[in-house]
Amino acid sequence: MLIDLHNHTNQHSSCSRISATDLIEQYIRSGIDGICITDHNYLWNDKEKNDLKKKYEDKIKIFFGAEIDADIGHVLVFSYKDHDLYENLKYIPINLLYRKINLETTALIWAHPLRWRNKNSTDFNKNNIKKFDAIELLNGNCDEETILSTKKIFGKHNCKFVGGSDTHSLDMAIKYGTDFENSVKDQKDLVYSIKYGKFKPVKLKKL
Ligand SMILES: [Zn+2]
Ligand SMILES: [Zn+2]
Repeated sequence: MLIDLHNHTNQHSSCSRISATDLIEQYIRSGIDGICITDHNYLWNDKEKNDLKKKYEDKIKIFFGAEIDADIGHVLVFSYKDHDLYENLKYIPINLLYRKINLETTALIWAHPLRWRNKNSTDFNKNNIKKFDAIELLNGNCDEETILSTKKIFGKHNCKFVGGSDTHSLDMAIKYGTDFENSVKDQKDLVYSIKYGKFKPVKLKKL
């Protein structure tokens, strides 16, 4: 099951130029099974989520997370009990975030860990790496060299890898996704699939 785990909308990410509906309709046209909306330090509220899900019911699975600013860079969080997350949607050191979130109900992905670092950087704290359920290997804003280095560095730690387009505009959509072996029917399934399931990062095809 193909899901793009990383997308920003202009409703709640000031850097994005695409609306949630334009984004989702593009994914439906290309036959992608699911899309996650992951705005910067913002989680859509229940009404916003339900309106969007209802509109596209039976056409595509829509999931929600947030991309949080941390001391180590950007962290993608996905929860199935979102009220646990609301107070943490701001700049927060990873150690504190890890202590505050409910680890049973939340999955953590380290987004594009090399984007602002030297590509040969080896100064990754093992204890930080262990906090993540997966590492974002394929990211729409990363070049080939970054992807290869990420694979080399985090592969040594037996990390699981995901892919996401990090969409901020229509032309950035449908670049990378994550192929889950199991079907992911709801947000709880998504969290468990990231934490315990089998998946791999893949290139997506725009139709
Ligand atoms: Zn980011
Ligand atoms: Zn992003």
